[in-house]
Amino acid sequence: MKRILSAILGAAMLLCFASCGEGEPTETESGTSSSASEVSSESGVLRMATNAYFQPYEYYEGEDIVGIDVEIAEAIAKKLGMELVVEDMEFDSIITAVNEGSADFGMAGMTVTPERVEDVDFSVSYANGVQSIIVPENSPITCADDLFAEGATYKVGVQLGTTGDIYATEDLGSDRVVQYSNGNNAVLALVGGSVDCVIIDNEPAKALVEANEGLKILETAYADEDYAICVKKGNSELLDKINAAIDELVADGTIDNILNKYIK
Ligand code: GLN
Repeated sequence: MKRILSAILGAAMLLCFASCGEGEPTETESGTSSSASEVSSESGVLRMATNAYFQPYEYYEGEDIVGIDVEIAEAIAKKLGMELVVEDMEFDSIITAVNEGSADFGMAGMTVTPERVEDVDFSVSYANGVQSIIVPENSPITCADDLFAEGATYKVGVQLGTTGDIYATEDLGSDRVVQYSNGNNAVLALVGGSVDCVIIDNEPAKALVEANEGLKILETAYADEDYAICVKKGNSELLDKINAAIDELVADGTIDNILNKYIK
């Protein structure tokens, strides 16, 4: 079984293109956390809400948050003449932060889903994702279908509020799904034997398998997805600028270069 979400709402998202923000680019500053209330977008600061346990999109290198999303966000902020501030929070809190105004946008390898589109507005997509299944090397689970076999009771570890969580809960029922605060913790539970597999995005899955011995990624994926930036519903002023910036960064090869730097 494989879910296909690609292109969902693509048409709806491709609506807004406007000229990008004016003003001289300023130095950007990634890897800095700051209290949400200290800064506002009016002060020339662009606040990005993320969850920095999602290598290679966002992760800690020492005290800095780095990765694909951070570099793309820096390039967008530069085009808007704003300073980027990255705020790390639970993935599950990002949409709330954006809607409450404590962050200007959310960027966290976030998949465009019909449910999220009800709560926030998404930019054009800047990358694709795949939901992968991680199992122990000697697992009896050999493909996604094994999870659905009659009488199967395999427990699935997921990161709370992610599409892996949403799909697995819908498809298998909440009794078979164990939610963790981030992908690391889900994989630690897999290594410890509390769950039989972990469903998570493919690039973080690769990093997690590399960091933990005795695990592998199944060849059959669970779903294909589009990643996009989210803004508060109705914030078309910012969304138009972000879309125009992404458009330019795609056209001039910047986004491809950033993706290729992190994804071999
Ligand atoms: N792509 C997944 C989602 O949007 C996971 C994102 C994440 O864990 N940062 O739900």
